[in-house]
Amino acid sequence: MKLGLILVACILYGAECRPFSEGGRKGGFNKLLLISFDGFRWDYDQDVETPNFDQLVKEGVKAKYITPPMITMTSPSHFTTITGRWIEDHGVVHNMLFNSTTLLKITHKATMKRSEWWDNGALPLWITAQNQGLKTASFYYPGGGVNYSGQAVDRALVESYGMPDDNETEWQENIDTVMRWYTQEDFDFVTLYFGEPDSVGHSKGPDTQERKDIIKMIDRTLGYLKRAIAKHGLTDNLNVIITSDHGMTTIKKEKHDPTVKEIILNKYINFLQLVHFELVDYGGFGMLRPRNGKKQDIYNKLKNAHPNLTVYMKEDVPENFHFAKNSRIQDIILVGDLGYNLNSRAIIYVNKGDHGFHNQEMDMKMIFRAFGPDFKKNYLASPFDSVNIYALMCKLMGVNPAPNNGSLTYTEDMLVDDFDNLHPTSPTPTETGTTTPAGHGERNQMSLALLSVLIFTMSCLL
Ligand SMILES: [Zn+2]
Repeated sequence: MKLGLILVACILYGAECRPFSEGGRKGGFNKLLLISFDGFRWDYDQDVETPNFDQLVKEGVKAKYITPPMITMTSPSHFTTITGRWIEDHGVVHNMLFNSTTLLKITHKATMKRSEWWDNGALPLWITAQNQGLKTASFYYPGGGVNYSGQAVDRALVESYGMPDDNETEWQENIDTVMRWYTQEDFDFVTLYFGEPDSVGHSKGPDTQERKDIIKMIDRTLGYLKRAIAKHGLTDNLNVIITSDHGMTTIKKEKHDPTVKEIILNKYINFLQLVHFELVDYGGFGMLRPRNGKKQDIYNKLKNAHPNLTVYMKEDVPENFHFAKNSRIQDIILVGDLGYNLNSRAIIYVNKGDHGFHNQEMDMKMIFRAFGPDFKKNYLASPFDSVNIYALMCKLMGVNPAPNNGSLTYTEDMLVDDFDNLHPTSPTPTETGTTTPAGHGERNQMSLALLSVLIFTMSCLL
């Protein structure tokens, strides 16, 4: 009886009938899974046997590579992907939470539950999608475990300390969990994060057998994922995007190559006298807050200090870094040439590989793959900036995007030609920096509200 009423109401009102479950995707859009393999450099699949990645080229979309934002670090880059904002706009400017006045520094993993580091006004896609009636989840994805304007992601798992990154059985279990979220609980959008191959890239280096072994493991996991999707009956209604946050390069060390002169900053500046706050010894990128009146002095001393070190005053950072307009960005920015770590006082650094270097270096580029019912098959996409993934995800789910710095221009061709016919309520993407107009989501909410009134009225009449 009730179902009959709903159907009658739908027909009378002409609204979209949004079944609650049974594989029927709200608004006719398919579900979406965003997978990030941390530190998966764009060419990691080219020197190892990767049958599943190779098969995926035929079954979906591959970009030769994509470019992370400046700076090429885990939390800042992941947050650009999930918000479509440049780092200076979303405010997660480093892996560490810090305060350059109080000198507070909190390590990367510990930031994962600290809303104050992430919640700066740029809404991540989980929250925007939820506000438009979708159900979303984050499995270890950076930024998924905190609140945005008091609102939490519907379901968020945060990686605990000391968890090994390379446990294949656990990876498979995590995939099974995500599949159940879709099939048993009707989640629409899930982000799934893996800590590899970043860990092995740091500890062993990117050009090692150990890294190749991890890529083989990731490839097997991709095969497992595809079988799991089929087993759970999601092949025809789940789109999948696989990407990363940055690449990886081998750190240059004098002990391996006598021509290398490693950067040790206190050879050129006296930290105690000149520097109030420092973020260095963290790969190829660093920031300094000078003591009062010492900015020019630091700049002058570092400017030509080392042939492989580039120093910027905050106001002179190149515009295409999109890394200046934020109060968390410090007065002096340091970037090492590819492979040159920024050491402060001594070389205490043990990593064999790292990132944080310039995003135009090929070693910092990362993978992009996509497959599912809405993606073309055997389609090679041109390289693009990862800031554009957000608009694509919104389009795939019929979500009206929040203001963002991305565009569909670079990704729209990946979609099947009849995408807009299959999903006729596709929203128009908003332009950069503009206010999102009342759109698709709000219209849906209004439709549902009117529908409820109509059903109620009809119930009374009958
Ligand atoms: Zn890393």
